[in-house]
Amino acid sequence: MEFLTGSLLELITQTSTNLPPDVRAAMSIAAAGERPATQSSQALSIILSNIDMASDDEGPICQDTGMPTFVVHTPVGVNQIEIRKAIHAAIAEATRLGKLRPNSVDSLTGKNSGNNLGEETPVMHFEQWEEDDIEVRLILKGGGCENKNIQYSLPCELEHLGRADRNLEGVRKCILHGVWQAQGQGCSPGALGVCIGSDRAHGYELAKGQLFRTLDDVNPNPELAKLEAGIMEEANRLGVGAMGFGGKASLIGCKITAANRLPASFFVSVAYDCWAFRRLGVRLDASSGAITRWLYRDPSRPVERMTKGEGFPLTGREAVLKAPLTEAMVRALRVGDVVLINGEMFTGRDNVHAYLMKNPPPVDLHGAVLYHCGPVMLKEGDRWTVKAAGPTTSIREEPYEAEVIRRYGVRAVMGKGGMGPKTLAALQEYGGVYLNAIGGAAQYYARTVEKVAGAFLMEFGIPEAMWRLWVNGFVAIVTMDAHGNSLHADVEKASGEELAALQSV
Ligand code: SF4
Repeated sequence: MEFLTGSLLELITQTSTNLPPDVRAAMSIAAAGERPATQSSQALSIILSNIDMASDDEGPICQDTGMPTFVVHTPVGVNQIEIRKAIHAAIAEATRLGKLRPNSVDSLTGKNSGNNLGEETPVMHFEQWEEDDIEVRLILKGGGCENKNIQYSLPCELEHLGRADRNLEGVRKCILHGVWQAQGQGCSPGALGVCIGSDRAHGYELAKGQLFRTLDDVNPNPELAKLEAGIMEEANRLGVGAMGFGGKASLIGCKITAANRLPASFFVSVAYDCWAFRRLGVRLDASSGAITRWLYRDPSRPVERMTKGEGFPLTGREAVLKAPLTEAMVRALRVGDVVLINGEMFTGRDNVHAYLMKNPPPVDLHGAVLYHCGPVMLKEGDRWTVKAAGPTTSIREEPYEAEVIRRYGVRAVMGKGGMGPKTLAALQEYGGVYLNAIGGAAQYYARTVEKVAGAFLMEFGIPEAMWRLWVNGFVAIVTMDAHGNSLHADVEKASGEELAALQSV
């Protein structure tokens, strides 16, 4: 199996950097159907540019390269232990090359292994089959969308939808609720894998397994095919929109399976994947490990470009922000304003926020832009370079952020998906804004970083450290302002009303 590790490395690299054609097609349709000059269409144009940039430069589409999950089919007699070892070697090498972010953290000590290997990481499922080749499928699903997975136990009461009974109508309500509750936090427009039935653990596994179907296939079960089509139509009426900015494109796919259940249980398990829907597969020669064919790709079709022009069009009306920001500067901003950040910003996510509750910051944060981001960084010689740098989900910092703003004078908090009422109140009281960067646009934003000017709290590992970045032309949208306005709260309320209107059909 001389080529096995190299083939797996190629699979990982391509999965992380080059979206499959069915996802590209679905994103093109989503972008074409969005109302022009809206925040949702602006987000989509950045996303489309990012998809092109990632494949052009073979860089990670999103800085969160997710939990690598492999599904491997082998002919009888193939040594699965060797395949496991080769997957480990390929994962470590892909991490070293910056195609994957070091994403594997010991759940007891909090230590990042640095190479994406660790207890039960990566995830591997092996099956035997009666074909001659080995088949390896891979999905990279990030934490933001993973956190929006949801499981329902029927019967139940659902916000805006009332009672969901143990029938297909109840299932329909659960799935629509699953889209609504994700809002922009899972980087919409998203795709759903759903399992009706089974037990809790296997139901989630089967739901995730549906994400290995292509977005444009048709369910062979006519009842489920009808449900999938109906969900697509109704979910895209909710108005969640790209990144939860409000808009037409909320869902790019819905794939449903059903499994037998215990009489006492009726679960609906929903696996929510983001627009950065990274899954690919290969067939391998069972004696050499060489790639014989790619799955999900049409060899006769070259990779289609997503953008025709320049990507995100600037109008000249953008507010230019350069830290340190003053109170007057941020109070002048309103929800919906587009900002261009030039100069200094600091990254800080979960560990940094917890640290700041007990310790002073290692840098002066007065007037600072604090970016919720866990970048992919590579050390080249004695210099750090940014390989991917999109935002992470901000709501995780809701328990801390108001205090960080109050104590340390941060003026702009930036991430994705918005924050809650405590942060909104702090922005109003102390003078600050929340800026929504476009989730998953890791290549787009990495290109705005001119210099890595410092690294602090490195003991937390690369994604969780505090990085001092110098940027130029970093685009974001004000979605929470110092006047008590929150686009996220508005969209959640409006889409909740749309959801209520779908209560029964
Ligand atoms: S696109 Fe968003 S949800 Fe998906 S992996 Fe990236 S940050 Fe996470």
